[in-house]
Amino acid sequence: MRRSLSLFLALFLVGLGLAQEVCRYCRGNLDLRPFTYRDAIYQVCSKCRASLPKCSLCDNPCPQPAYRDGRYICPSCRNTGMFDKGRVESLSKAVVGYMINLLGAEAKALPPIQLVDYDEMRTKFNQSGRNVDVVAFYQPYNPELVYLLTGETEVESGSHLAHELTHAWESRACIQQDRALSEGMACWVQYQYLMSGGHSSEAQKITRHSDPDYGASLVYLLGRSKTLGNAAFIAKVRKSRNLKDV
Ligand SMILES: [Zn+2]
Ligand SMILES: [Zn+2]
Ligand SMILES: [Zn+2]
Repeated sequence: MRRSLSLFLALFLVGLGLAQEVCRYCRGNLDLRPFTYRDAIYQVCSKCRASLPKCSLCDNPCPQPAYRDGRYICPSCRNTGMFDKGRVESLSKAVVGYMINLLGAEAKALPPIQLVDYDEMRTKFNQSGRNVDVVAFYQPYNPELVYLLTGETEVESGSHLAHELTHAWESRACIQQDRALSEGMACWVQYQYLMSGGHSSEAQKITRHSDPDYGASLVYLLGRSKTLGNAAFIAKVRKSRNLKDV
């Protein structure tokens, strides 16, 4: 009897805690507003909304201090993001396995992945002669590898690995391609990878990419693969110089 009473009391207190919403950060309740974080919806009060920086990954209010690379990363993004080399390694194994099935044997020997923070990513990317922010990129030599930014979700990282590793596959399996075909094909593999995991809204998003070498090329290649069938389509991509040859 005593035991069931304390169990009842415990459940009652848990229920009370859930019903009584408080600010995620200060536990206050001044003008709460809900924010959709990666793992759940949390309330944040007006005081914290005004004083806290935005998480650089999800844009929601985020507590200080900044992550070691200068980005603000909230607890939800910290818990769900790719920060661990082992996790990236098993993810890239899965992506490469998918690519071997889809594209053939050349995908067996793709370059390693290097997980890097924001500051290092900027330095590496700027060294390659470009100067915009990226979340992943393929470095073809000295040494050949794919850089991947820390903190993305597993779905985002898998999608970006599929794209960048396709550039490595192209360098092995295809003749020299123009940008529209090279980027279009990388987006095509990325699209197929996302669809295979049931992430169709993320896949659709790539078809609307504002750079036509990505978005419009992908739409064109999806039409071609539908007409030809995947095997004949991929055989054609290997031998084509320009998008419109496919
Ligand atoms: Zn607060
Ligand atoms: Zn966040
Ligand atoms: Zn690309």
